[in-house]
Amino acid sequence: MTTEAVRERFRPGADYQMFIGGEWLSAPDAFEAVDPSLGSAWAAIGNGTAQQAEDAVAAARKALPAWRRSTPATRQAILGAVADRIEADAELFARLLPTENGRPVREVGIADVPASAAIYRYYAGLVRSHRGDQIPVEDPHSLVYTVREPLGVIAAILPWNSPLITVANKLAPALACGNTVVLKPSEFASASVLEFVRLIADLLPPGVVNVVTGFGPTVGAALVGHPDVAKVTLTGGGPTARAVMAAAAGALTPTIMELGGKSAMIVAEDADLGRAVADAAMGIYLANGEACIASSRLLLHERIADDFLDRFAALARSIRVGDALDPDTQVGPLVSRPHFDRVLAHVKKAQDQGVRVLAGDEELGLGPTYKDGFFLRPTVLHDPSGQADVVTDEVFGPVTVAETFSDYDEVVERANATRYGLASGVWTTDLARAHRIAGQLDAGIVWVNKWFDLPAGAPMGGVKDSGFGRELSWETMLEYSAPKTINIDLGAPRFPLWG
Ligand code: NAD
Repeated sequence: MTTEAVRERFRPGADYQMFIGGEWLSAPDAFEAVDPSLGSAWAAIGNGTAQQAEDAVAAARKALPAWRRSTPATRQAILGAVADRIEADAELFARLLPTENGRPVREVGIADVPASAAIYRYYAGLVRSHRGDQIPVEDPHSLVYTVREPLGVIAAILPWNSPLITVANKLAPALACGNTVVLKPSEFASASVLEFVRLIADLLPPGVVNVVTGFGPTVGAALVGHPDVAKVTLTGGGPTARAVMAAAAGALTPTIMELGGKSAMIVAEDADLGRAVADAAMGIYLANGEACIASSRLLLHERIADDFLDRFAALARSIRVGDALDPDTQVGPLVSRPHFDRVLAHVKKAQDQGVRVLAGDEELGLGPTYKDGFFLRPTVLHDPSGQADVVTDEVFGPVTVAETFSDYDEVVERANATRYGLASGVWTTDLARAHRIAGQLDAGIVWVNKWFDLPAGAPMGGVKDSGFGRELSWETMLEYSAPKTINIDLGAPRFPLWG
């Protein structure tokens, strides 16, 4: 089927409503969702109000007492059913994600759909072993134990880049622990979240999951500063994180922050270059480079740098850029016009600072249909000494910058010299070197001879300005629950302090 025919068949037309307390509700007005391949509007999204955000919190609060008492078996079954529904409706997301944020359609079936289904199944398994402890205290006349309780209403503030996966990373553990949730999707990826919730709505009692669409400073701010919200979880950028934390502080609400990255991939002189080049390409060009864990920085040993860059630049130049709905497309458009302009500005600034462009300045070669799309060719920059701003700034697009090094202590220092600390990696066939460097890198994740592997169970999150809190793991259950200590007197004698 041609991309025109796919678009013709997939034309929701209607305005997207919000989901509050089990009902689909309209906002007073709407904003346009733009298809980034064409640069034209394809849907209208409800522009929610602060009052609607408050209504969603109230609905989640109302649903809490019954939901927190639901049995582990019930929650396990529901999370498993959510995973089944995602897989059964993979076709819906294969049309939706490319149309909404430019994710190449070929990636939806191999990344977004299986990864999000796996996350719900992982937490479905954890539900049955989520428990407190019996505490061995000194006093033989006391029985002390803990039970793990849900926190209450969770406000989950989402980014646009991987809506299905970021929802799963927050919703699955929150529900598994017995919390109720208000989701606030990005203004650039709301329809995917609404369609997902429509798909699973009948599995959950009304109010357990709510979605409020609209803009950060209105609905987002109303949620994160709300005194009835027990925890805020954000995946987003640094400036947003600071605003969210300031608002949450006013209500003494704790937060989880999954923020940006500038992740360094170190390639030693003994690396398997074929694999390193392929992984470097996947690390930066998967998801159009719009991934917090993208391998956006390459640190290449001087003995292999030229060979690596010849192969890598040739590979980048061979990548097919085009309509995100075309199964042949390997890199799609960037999410929006403002984001496209930001990414281009980073490249332009790098050039002004003397950085060479090894790939990315070729003709796009797309027809007139795509003249308003937000396309950028996979770009390889070369700054051997790593002095330009692009070496430490998060670009969030298909742009990587390569540097050269000769000393392994120095390369670790250079890799660590950014505000961020999300992911990193080292390519070497020397086992001792791999472990040594892995131990020295300041990052939440270190990959050795691989990139982009995020198995459920392995904690995902950052250090430094990349945030705090961990998703995708057993530890995440501790983020969404609190221990309650129950201390029972077994007949201890009292000290006669007051007669
Ligand atoms: P963003 O920070 O612009 O927006 C994130 C969300 O915050 C949106 O829903 C937005 O509406 C909301 N928001 C904005 N201002 C707000 C406010 N004052 N109060 C409450 N909510 C507010 O981020 P983005 O552009 O959607 O996503 C890209 C960023 O996210 C990048 O920096 C990327 O690295 C990061 N990211 C991190 C991870 C991770 O897991 N660490 C994953 C994906 C993306």
